[in-house]
Amino acid sequence: SPPMQPLIVGNWKMNGLVAALGELWGMSQARPETEIWIAPPFTLIDRAVSLAAGRIAIGGQDCHHSTSGAHTGCISAAMLADSGAKFVITGHSERRTDNHETDAQVRAKTIAARAAGLTVIVCVGETEAQRDAGAHESTVTEQLDASLPDDLTDIIIAYEPVWAIGTGRTPTPEDVAAMHAHIRANLVARFGEAGQGARILYGGSVKPENAALLLGQPNVGGALVGGASLIATSLLAIAAAA
Ligand code: PEP
Repeated sequence: SPPMQPLIVGNWKMNGLVAALGELWGMSQARPETEIWIAPPFTLIDRAVSLAAGRIAIGGQDCHHSTSGAHTGCISAAMLADSGAKFVITGHSERRTDNHETDAQVRAKTIAARAAGLTVIVCVGETEAQRDAGAHESTVTEQLDASLPDDLTDIIIAYEPVWAIGTGRTPTPEDVAAMHAHIRANLVARFGEAGQGARILYGGSVKPENAALLLGQPNVGGALVGGASLIATSLLAIAAAA
């Protein structure tokens, strides 16, 4: 299938008071040619949808695998969809680490999110120790095999090396290309044609200065951006470089 236009997804993590919606407004007013999606904290989703949904898809950073029930503090995919969210991130390394989420749980969340009508960005990526041990490809293979559902409809993969998230360090462009080729091969082997067409985002310290190089690599269909997504000018600069 033909290469899709790049997609830039901003993950605001646990950042963003109501005033931060000004940045979202700035992003939406710029009418960038590159598609931009933003995952604000849950507390801002409803307002973000009202403000920007016509131009920027709004999504969640996580969801529970159940539709509803006795899970204090959790948010279901159905609730996200009901709030106007169009997508959700699952398996972010901060959730895998801080909340001990397993591949099986990531898969359950992913299936639930899709059932609620959301597009799902499923995150994978190795730690620094795994890369140093030469186990980065096998780690990502295991995560893909156990985190993805049985088909790729409305699934986007995000490759985020854990050691590159929020650190200012990135893999070399060659390492990014090699891992994205590895992921592509895994997806094609398991899903055939759908694997060929699936979007694979790169994430980890993407900045305006490195975006063109990282996003220019084969099989990189866009970026998942943390820190640099909080400021409209920096996210727009990344989108312009994509
Ligand atoms: C992320 O958390 O998805 C991420 C890529 O963060 P940062 O851009 O800040 O490294």
